[in-house]
Amino acid sequence: MSIRVAIIGAGPSGLAQLRAFQSAHAKGAPMPHVVCFEKQADWGGMWNYTWRTGLDEHGEPVHGSMYRYLWSNGPKECLEFSDYSFDEHFGRPISSYPPREVLWDYIQGRVNKAGVRDYIRFNTAVKHVSFDQATREFTVTSHDYSRQQNVTETFDFVVVASGHFSTPNVPAFEGFERFSGRIMHAHDFREATELKGKDLLIVGSSYSAEDIGSQCYKYGARSITSAYRTQPMGYKWPKNWEERPQLSKVDGDMAYFVDGSSKRVDAIILCTGYKHHFPFLSEELTLQTANRLWPAELYQGVIWEDNPQLIYLGMQDLWYSFNLFDAQAWFARDYMLGRITLPEQAAMKADSARWRAREESLESTASMYEFQGSYIKHLIDQTDYPSFDIDAVNRIFLKWKTDKKHDIMGYRDKSYRSVITGTAAVPHHTRWLQALDDSMDEYLRETRAKGDVNALYQR
Ligand code: FAD
Ligand code: NAP
Repeated sequence: MSIRVAIIGAGPSGLAQLRAFQSAHAKGAPMPHVVCFEKQADWGGMWNYTWRTGLDEHGEPVHGSMYRYLWSNGPKECLEFSDYSFDEHFGRPISSYPPREVLWDYIQGRVNKAGVRDYIRFNTAVKHVSFDQATREFTVTSHDYSRQQNVTETFDFVVVASGHFSTPNVPAFEGFERFSGRIMHAHDFREATELKGKDLLIVGSSYSAEDIGSQCYKYGARSITSAYRTQPMGYKWPKNWEERPQLSKVDGDMAYFVDGSSKRVDAIILCTGYKHHFPFLSEELTLQTANRLWPAELYQGVIWEDNPQLIYLGMQDLWYSFNLFDAQAWFARDYMLGRITLPEQAAMKADSARWRAREESLESTASMYEFQGSYIKHLIDQTDYPSFDIDAVNRIFLKWKTDKKHDIMGYRDKSYRSVITGTAAVPHHTRWLQALDDSMDEYLRETRAKGDVNALYQR
């Protein structure tokens, strides 16, 4: 009898798992009985944009945290699938930092080609997962909103691919209940033009703070003040952007910071990160972790050590992303197909402890993406996922960091070379700061006369 696998989520991680099984099947391996549950109406996870906030049309918490006008914040050359290149998808070189819709299209291209859509049950939210020690089976209860019915099924393996940038971490600050403007978490931010002409306060100093602030600057906010808890972002910000230490309280429309300074603001966006949240899992199956490079209790970063029939994908803090999910999905596939044998539990825990100790000793930024790169390489060495030059990707990460330091509003105009195909990216026809239309049509519009592009290179 073939194994039964439940995949929870059809974002990049869940889709990587489907593609991994299909790829083995195409080479002659048996296709397991696979059901991929997706609570949204379409695939792509975070990359499937929704205007909704709060609860969705079914009363489920809205998954999406992406906003309009979002462009990749890392070079596409660092996330390229090694079995499906950008060249294959677009048929010509594109720039290194595409907008969301373009990356969503790329993600879909591979799984359309693989023909795995029929394995997905859309509009179906997993509500509960439990494990029976006697039968060694999972019971998965889902709600199918198309048919308005609960369905209960049993599986041998459960792959949790539900993402971890969806449930917001929302701290409270004194005076919030009487603040005269709008307060929202980054999870609910959608439209930068709403803040045109406004004085904006951002709490947090990581990627969301940097990118939402940059968006609002680009679309005409009057001023941006970003408050850091631990350390400032430290970029050379435009004149109307300043960094302050942690927010201490607000009073009316005044924000006060721990250094005693204050600023009048119209709106506050909490860019304070997300929580790993798995309300559908029984407690003994639930991963509890902060957003870090090596969450505990996952052998090889994926297999739940206390019950190896449970697998988590994509739960790490991300430098790498799509190709990391692939490396994990291929490893998980080969384990589920019986091609990889796990060591005893004590040995799994000892192995994880070594990775964790390495993670804890990391100091420089470079050592962090190098660590994640070495993890990916370690996984790929155990499967037939096409290997790629991870050292070259690390070099692109380094260049990316340097470019950002040099020009935080201009780094997305830089271009890199694919480590998969060797193709050099072309600069986008419009500089990021001037590119207000992020649609795929506008993005793929043929570039202007060659001379214009050359001029862009030289500026
Ligand atoms: P997700 O994409 O979050 O997908 C999880 C899926 O699980 C969703 O489709 C969801 O609907 C589904 N799901 C959840 N719960 C259930 C349930 N109970 N039942 C059924 N289905 C369920 N990464 C980059 O590489 N580059 C970027 O530029 C970038 N920008 C980002 C910007 C923002 C604002 C955020 C929040 C993240 C960004 N990321 C970026 C990281 C992004 O999370 C990953 O690229 C990727 O989407 C993670 O894939 P995933 O499949 O693990 O999770
Ligand atoms: P994050 O990287 O986990 O950062 C969380 C931030 O919140 C940190 O700066 C943290 O400060 C701060 N914070 C948490 N609690 C706080 C509190 N009580 N008071 C003040 N500050 C607090 O989360 P993120 O920035 O939302 O990024 C999540 C993911 O989204 C990343 O993978 C990122 O790449 C992605 N993203 C991408 C884009 C894009 O442009 N494509 C845009 C946005 C996000 P400390 O440092 O003090 O802990």
